[in-house]
Amino acid sequence: MKKLFALILAVMMVLSMLAGCAPSASTSGLKTVEAGKLIMATNAEFPPYEFVEGGKITGIDVEIADAIAKKLGLELKIENMEFDSIISSVKGGKADIGVAGMTVTPERLEEVSFTTSYATGVQVVIVTENSTITAVDDLFAEGANHTIGVQLATTGDLYSTWDIEDEGLGTVDRYNKGADAVMALKTGKVDCVIIDNEPAKAFVAENEGLKILDTEYAVEDYAIAISKNNSELLTAVDNALKELIKDGTVASIVGKYIGK
Ligand code: GLN
Repeated sequence: MKKLFALILAVMMVLSMLAGCAPSASTSGLKTVEAGKLIMATNAEFPPYEFVEGGKITGIDVEIADAIAKKLGLELKIENMEFDSIISSVKGGKADIGVAGMTVTPERLEEVSFTTSYATGVQVVIVTENSTITAVDDLFAEGANHTIGVQLATTGDLYSTWDIEDEGLGTVDRYNKGADAVMALKTGKVDCVIIDNEPAKAFVAENEGLKILDTEYAVEDYAIAISKNNSELLTAVDNALKELIKDGTVASIVGKYIGK
């Protein structure tokens, strides 16, 4: 009886060795939140980088993240959340990567690490076609007192809070979605919306009577956020991204969504 038990034990050990991989490591030996998966935290309200189409989350960031996951032998899993929760989710070990047209800022670099930049974003101003706001500088004019719509916790929110609200030059109204801020502009609750150029173009195309000012508010870099506690994953994702930029994959993904 003892012998049989020992035999069963031996067989079980061999089987578990054959099964191979440790619980939280991929074929590449990377530690991720869920074994074999690369969990992407995003906010699918940001066309053309991430948005819902036919019930599926798609877009530039999703395709880039998927290509990275494939290179690393991992399966991409998307977690859709408020933009404001992405950094804490990555920092708190709930997601492996934050990919959300996310701008690299000094403040965010204190919370998470960022990969190489894969795109440039521009903060632009959306106004109604007959608006008295004709240039970005109009927002900073003494006594201007405009109400500015933004998406909560985005750089559009941060910059306009610092430059306009904190200076007593106007008020910032924060919405959970960029689309909600645009709706507030249409219904006259805000005088303009500050948001990234590509979603701005998409929102203006979908809504009549709106336009984007020619002057830019800020130019910034998008990159992928990764926990400061997983430097192996940062290096692996960064190298994969660099390869995808070099071999033209990133450009061809971007070209599919952003017409030149
Ligand atoms: N680029 C902006 C930021 O990082 C907005 C990103 C977004 O709304 N998804 O704050």
